[in-house]
Amino acid sequence: MLVVQKFGGTSVGDLDRIQNVANRVSTTKKDGNDVVVVVSAMSGETNKLVGYAEHFSKNPSRAEMDMLLSSGERVTASLLSIALGEMGHDVVAMTGRKAGIVTDNSHTKARIEEINPQAMHDALNDGKIVVVAGFQGVNASGDITTLGRGGSDLSAVAIAGALKADLCEIYTDVSGIYTTDPRIEPKAKKLESISYDEMLELASLGAKVLQNRSVEMAKKLNVNLVTRTSFSNEEGTLITKEENIMEAPLVSGIALDRNQARISLMGVKDRPGIASDIFNKLATAEVNVDMIIQNKAHDGATNIDFTVPVSELKDAKSVVDSFVQSGDIDADSYNEDICKVSVVGVGMKSHAGVAARAFLTMADNNININMISTSEIKVSMMIDEKYAELAVRSLHDAYELEK
Ligand code: ADP
Ligand code: ASP
Ligand code: MG
Repeated sequence: MLVVQKFGGTSVGDLDRIQNVANRVSTTKKDGNDVVVVVSAMSGETNKLVGYAEHFSKNPSRAEMDMLLSSGERVTASLLSIALGEMGHDVVAMTGRKAGIVTDNSHTKARIEEINPQAMHDALNDGKIVVVAGFQGVNASGDITTLGRGGSDLSAVAIAGALKADLCEIYTDVSGIYTTDPRIEPKAKKLESISYDEMLELASLGAKVLQNRSVEMAKKLNVNLVTRTSFSNEEGTLITKEENIMEAPLVSGIALDRNQARISLMGVKDRPGIASDIFNKLATAEVNVDMIIQNKAHDGATNIDFTVPVSELKDAKSVVDSFVQSGDIDADSYNEDICKVSVVGVGMKSHAGVAARAFLTMADNNININMISTSEIKVSMMIDEKYAELAVRSLHDAYELEK
């Protein structure tokens, strides 16, 4: 078998843990498999580097940030290779560039455009273990790019797809995908399997256990994805096609996203094309708008509220400012003390009343819902941040997910 094994920050968090990873990789190799390992930076390392940059600038160049942040993964890849070499394995460490990962030019959140896996193939054919620094690639001009926070998951899935690996294992600090973040609700249950679509919703809605784009890519390339822990041999969770899951539950999980901000625009000139102008400019600035509410117009003006990731608030503000200056918007305000809780499940497609139960649960707990959005398989509610954990636990109870 050809196996891609990805180890996240906590799994390589110190030198003993890197040795532990080396032991696991060594066993996989000795069992007769070809192995490509993808590693994250040691836990806390990427944040530390971000902090260093912020010491010098509030708005550092994104190209420079990529050069800086990509170094964390290179440290781990090198150390793991050295450890494996010491154990008698033939091994080679690769940067994203060497692994052939070519991205677009969008520094700090680059998209993978193609993978040229020749170097990895050659090394595997020579019997080597390949260790790749995750989270990074290179653009057409040869500059280092990074794939967005949590992006080593994407590196692993993309490499598994390019090499047509039999299996892609994501090793982390929890033993699989749970019905909700086990740090918030200790009664959360581990799922044996979950569909790509549900996992994609959970990841997009805040469950950082997998980066959302990695799930999207796994679905597109049909990668066999398993999430499990590097701290024991416990079996993990399989992420697979919906038809492979025997009995899809009504609700699979609850997600929480604390990194949302609400932008309120007051006195927006009510003319055809204004929403298109505002949201197109936001899209051009690479701001991902999520929930949107527009009120009924009064005296030729209306109010529009929407949410964006906190990390994109700065860019969103500068777009909004340009409309305030031109007189298209009277006033704007911002609120970062909000969060989004979401209920996800493919069972919703065929059952009524799932959303109603979510709203009732909020009502029973005296939690005000500020915005709602729904899709075929999810219901999301924007609420005050102070109710985040209460909301997650109450919803977990309401759908009886501990059973
Ligand atoms: P890594 O550093 O290995 O990439 P992350 O910290 O990115 O790990 O992701 C693992 C964390 O995701 C867990 O520690 C857990 O707190 C969180 N998490 C959030 N939602 C879930 C969920 N539904 N199931 C499992 N873990 C979850
Ligand atoms: N080290 C990067 C981060 O912290 C990428 C990753 O761990 O997946 O976001
Ligand atoms: Mg992660």
